[in-house]
Amino acid sequence: MKIVTRFAPSPTGRLHLGHAYSALRAHRLARGSGGAFLLRIEDIDPGRTREEHAAGIEEDLAWLGIDWDGPVVRQSERLHLYRAALERLRERGLVYPCFCTRSGIAAEIARSAAAPHGPEGAVYPGTCRPAPSAPSHPGFPRPDPDLVRPHAWRLDVRRAVELAGTLAWTDATAGEIIAHPERFGDVVLARKDAPTSYHLAVTIDDAAQGVTDVVRGRDLFAATDVHRLLQALLGLPVPRYHHHELLTAPDGRRLAKRSGAPSLLDLRLAGADPEKLRDELLGERLPAGYLTAAS
Ligand code: GLU
Repeated sequence: MKIVTRFAPSPTGRLHLGHAYSALRAHRLARGSGGAFLLRIEDIDPGRTREEHAAGIEEDLAWLGIDWDGPVVRQSERLHLYRAALERLRERGLVYPCFCTRSGIAAEIARSAAAPHGPEGAVYPGTCRPAPSAPSHPGFPRPDPDLVRPHAWRLDVRRAVELAGTLAWTDATAGEIIAHPERFGDVVLARKDAPTSYHLAVTIDDAAQGVTDVVRGRDLFAATDVHRLLQALLGLPVPRYHHHELLTAPDGRRLAKRSGAPSLLDLRLAGADPEKLRDELLGERLPAGYLTAAS
């Protein structure tokens, strides 16, 4: 089967060396076998997306010598697909509207002596989750009039896991992983300010675009359990995963704008040689000196 990989950045800032590393790994995996490499802009966060960053991503990749197949996919143009998937889950009573505010959730967690913690910190305490015996669950969990108030939609993860049973996925390095999505609690599948969330959109798009191999950083390793659950619930194929290590600065901190990592634009303006940079990144020799270029 032809390998299809993708690079899926969020246009919330300029790309840095960590992004370049991830894009190069995905590109090499596809091109090395005559496969396809896709570019998807994950612009579902209305508050943080900037149009100039979306344009900058294409510019930076072209500078690095990375070409992609087909048109660039924008998640903001695919909201109807995410809505339709959410609707399918809603009809099966697997999601419920959540009216909580961030501060309300934090206060509730602070009040509880033993708030469970998952891979991303304290999990949602379930304030809005309908009782399992509630007559309107499954189905439409709350009366319609409530839904004029701003609300998110959360996955009822316990019900979902009960339905899906034991699930596994494969990481190229770590091997077979048994998924434990319940560790995340009832994740948000549609935000108050957007009709989807990262978890839902990424799962649907990887399937819709025929991605066979997801190459991304280890920081998303645990979240793959949630994506695997959504694949099972929505009847989607399961890609292979390649979670790579994250680039770090010499002091061991993760590369990010705030740790002083230069953006690819900084490097380009400073006259860096893209071919050399590509070789160094793929050879996993982080170029000394680059890290201080923008500090
Ligand atoms: N859009 C995500 C990010 O920029 C990456 C998503 C993924 O590779 O699954 O962090």
